Order: sequence, then C-alpha cells, then structure tokens
Amino acid sequence: MARPQSPTKKATRQYTKQHNARLVLKTIYEAGNISRADLARLTGLTRATVSNIVAGFLDEGIVAETGYGPSLGGKPPIMLNIVENARQLICLDLGNEQFTGALANLRGHFEKQISLPVNGRTAQTALSLVYELVEQLLRHVTAPVLGLALGSPGLIDAEAGLVKQSVNLDWHDLPLQQLLADRFHFPVYMANDSDLAALAEYSFGNDDTRNLVLIKMGQGIGSGIVLNGRIFHGEGFGAGEIGHVSVVANGELCSCGNYGCLETVASVRAMLRQAEAIAQEKSDGLLGRLRLADTPVTWEILRQACQQEDTDARQIVTRAGELLGVAVANLVGILNVNRIVIAGNVVQTGDLFIGAVQSSMQKRVLPRLAAGTAVQYATTQSNLVLLGASALILSQGLGVI
Ligand SMILES: [Zn+2]
Repeated sequence: MARPQSPTKKATRQYTKQHNARLVLKTIYEAGNISRADLARLTGLTRATVSNIVAGFLDEGIVAETGYGPSLGGKPPIMLNIVENARQLICLDLGNEQFTGALANLRGHFEKQISLPVNGRTAQTALSLVYELVEQLLRHVTAPVLGLALGSPGLIDAEAGLVKQSVNLDWHDLPLQQLLADRFHFPVYMANDSDLAALAEYSFGNDDTRNLVLIKMGQGIGSGIVLNGRIFHGEGFGAGEIGHVSVVANGELCSCGNYGCLETVASVRAMLRQAEAIAQEKSDGLLGRLRLADTPVTWEILRQACQQEDTDARQIVTRAGELLGVAVANLVGILNVNRIVIAGNVVQTGDLFIGAVQSSMQKRVLPRLAAGTAVQYATTQSNLVLLGASALILSQGLGVI
C-alpha cells in the first residue's frame, strides 16, 4: 500500500508545478512567437511537461496557437503566443488632484482611461470616489479581470494592503486592499505611487540596469527605489520619502508638520509659489505680464517664461534643481545607484532643471561615484503610475515580468 504523501512533499510538488507554469508563461511572454520545442530548450523542462503546461494555458485562453513556424527540415512547428486581450487589468493612480483609472491588456496597453477630479474629497468620500472609478471602468470591461493594482501617494504597506498614511486624502491605516477585494472580488495589489513609477521605468524603460531611483516631481516630491530588480520599501514602507527630508534650516512649515522640507522649496508647487511672489512684485516683468490678472502663475506660464529666457523664472527652476541635487547626492552616496530618473512636467524645462540637478549632485558626492551616475528624464512621462500598476499585476498575478 502506498504511503500517504507528507504535506510538505505535496506543497513542494504544488510549488514546482506553479513555478514551472510561470516559467513557461514568462518565456512565451518574452519571446512573442515560440514553438513548444524552443520552450523546452529555453526553460530546461521536458517536452512532455511543456506540452502539459501549454495545454492548461490554451484551455484558459491566455495562450493561443498562432500558426506554423519555419520548418527546420521536418514538420513545421506550431507557434504559440500570449493572447493579449484574454484578460484585462484595472490600473488606478490615486493622485492628489484626480483619480485616474485605466483598463490595460496583458501587454500593458491601455484601452480605456477615466479620470475623476478629487475636489477636496477626503476620508470616506475619497474612498467612495475610488469605488465609483472602478465601477465606471467595469462598465467597459470586455474580458475577465486578472487583477486590480493601485498607486497612491503616502505611506503604503504593500504587503498588508494598508494605506498607513495619506495626508492629503486623510486616510490612516485604511485597509484599502481588503475593502476593494471584498467589493469587487478580484486580486488587489497596491504600492506607493512613486514606487509604481519606478517599477514602470524598470519594467518598460529602455535600459536594463538592475538598480534605479525614480524621482517623481509634482505637487510633492517622492521617489521609488528599485534595487536588484525589486522595489525597496524600507522597514516601514517609507523608503524614498525624500520630499520630507529637511534641506533648509529654519525653513517654512511643511504639510507634514516639520520645517524646511525639500517639498517646500523644490516641488512644482513651491516653484509656482516663488514665481507668483515675483510676478506680484514685478508686475511689468515677464512673469507678471504672462500671468493673467487675478489668476496665480501656472506651470505653463513658468515654463514659457523659462523658454523666453526670463532670468527670474530660470533662477527659480535652477534653484529647485540644485536643492533636489542635494537629495540626489545623498541617494548616490548611500546607494551607489547609477541611474537616477526624473519624472514629472519639469521635463518641459529640458536641460535647465536636469543640468542643475546633475551639477549640484556632482559637487556633493565622491567624484568616482558621480562620474558613473546618469541623471536623466524618464523614458516615458505619461501614465507612469498606471504603467507601474499594470507591471505589478503582470508580475504578481502572472509572473511574466
Ligand atoms: Zn514635510
């Protein structure tokens, strides 16, 4: 009589099965069109195991036979590929001003995008707005949903699925993952929005480095750190919170309660505040003339003034770049990452901003470390958080990236 299998053995077999399936799917995903024979060769699995696994994916509709490949003498092989529209991903970017959601396919291509303005909603009403966004997206779903991923500013415990703290939305220890999973019944993943932007650059950018820091410049300043191909969260999921490191002694009060944070002097909001003060003081200067009466200086006005070589405007942007460079120098000195990526509409100021960051960093870190470090704008600037959300679902849900 056969002895019953031990639970550990069973678990190991289950794990191996799942591991092999993910390996096969990942190989198909990366290769595009591939035969079963090549899959066996690339994965090191037997032909029989590969055929078995592929049969499962064909049944699920995630993989399809796409035709015959070139014959190498014998029968031409049947080629396999991912059916990119077989599943849909729900990606959310819970920004400070608006919540944006998108449906993506298995290749991370967006098919439908919806934005809802936050209009000062906080706590429960902000949560209702998240539900509303998902419900609106679900009306456009055309395939089974693989999962939902969201990026939110603030301290996000990605493992427990908690928003530990989101100052602007007034969320504290909110079990958002569980709330969404209970309501919508599909797997939910979440991360800090800057972390997702870093993951997007890492997964879809045109560089194959294993380490990078992405700095997200917006109303605030956050950064996402990828080390050895994985998001580095830190002990309390606060890694990369460079916006709230004080860089100005006795500086102004920040929304976090401390004084002189990087955000108070180098964020887009801070730059606009400085530009507004100058426009009021010198109403006949370029900033003053570009600004319409009774409306504050916008980013577009500041950008135009820089483009038209306005000294004040250029000084504001350069100063912000220099202060960010101090934070970047610290990151480079501590982590020795070779790639610092900047995202946000500062990209529109071109070399002005990034040049200031680079030269400020170079003056503050060991020359050898600085020489090996590239500071550059993100490969793609639009929808970075949504792209990162799609990458998170594809990596956690399918293991393909
Ligand atoms: Zn602060």
